[in-house]
Amino acid sequence: MRGRFAPSPTGSLHLGNLRTALVSWLQVRAEGGEWLVRMEDLDRVTSSPVHERDQLASLAALGMHPDEPVVRQSERFPLHHDAIGTLRAQGRVYECFCTRREIRDAAQAPHGDLPEGAYPGTCRQLTEGQRAEHRRDGRRPALRLRTDGERFTVHDLVAGTFDGGVDDVVLQRADGVPAYNLAVVVDDGLQGITHVVRGDDLLSSTPRQRLLQELLGLPEPQYAHVPLVLAPDGTRLAKRHGAVTLADLAARGVGAHQVLARLGASLGLCAADEPVSADDLVPRFRIDSVPHEPWWLASDQL
Ligand code: GLU
Repeated sequence: MRGRFAPSPTGSLHLGNLRTALVSWLQVRAEGGEWLVRMEDLDRVTSSPVHERDQLASLAALGMHPDEPVVRQSERFPLHHDAIGTLRAQGRVYECFCTRREIRDAAQAPHGDLPEGAYPGTCRQLTEGQRAEHRRDGRRPALRLRTDGERFTVHDLVAGTFDGGVDDVVLQRADGVPAYNLAVVVDDGLQGITHVVRGDDLLSSTPRQRLLQELLGLPEPQYAHVPLVLAPDGTRLAKRHGAVTLADLAARGVGAHQVLARLGASLGLCAADEPVSADDLVPRFRIDSVPHEPWWLASDQL
């Protein structure tokens, strides 16, 4: 068993990220597997080594240490580009010249089958002449996956059965950088990841990732999508909501061990004021007791 936590190093980890990391770490430690951290730093503008160090320090402060050196996606572009080559050889790749705005304006209203923001397929049937014209206009193409109405059912350890369609997802951005769905599949596959724990905002992208796994001959990991943490106003927890990082909480006199106990309590593993270490929680953990509802924080918890 090999699990991983895969944050984007674009800021400090907040309680929601830390809780997801803890579930991943506990799942692996309870089974005696290996736990890895992968920095999803595809976006070179927002990612930084400062945030990476800060995130690793937060994980360590709660007692979570990776078993192997940290892997950075930015160092693996050749592997991602090889995978795009494999898809290209299958006739599965096409160039897309659409701007964000064009996609937004043309996007189909979300319906049951496709993930939100699904690409409407505008550039699918461009002729060579039309592509040349776009290039003359100075547009650079992104690369998209040519899908064929595929659907996938995911048997998720927390979210249950999820069935969804797949759209023509971006494989490579117009600036040549690999896109998230492609990179995550390639890296999980090549790193031998068997268990993926992450926020349930990514559940609807999982059928896309299942298709990419199939096309690239990579195994399907066992998924566990953990409900998000909500702020008192009912929106997804973010920095603006108050004391949400270990540093913020420490400044209010809440130490890492107290944060750990709160996270453990939110997973039903301890009392919120119990003096526990991460190791103490391992024998108490069961993936099927992770709550299926979001953890809704009260204003006095922030
Ligand atoms: N890097 C993604 C995030 O920070 C997580 C991707 C994943 O776990 O598959 O939301």
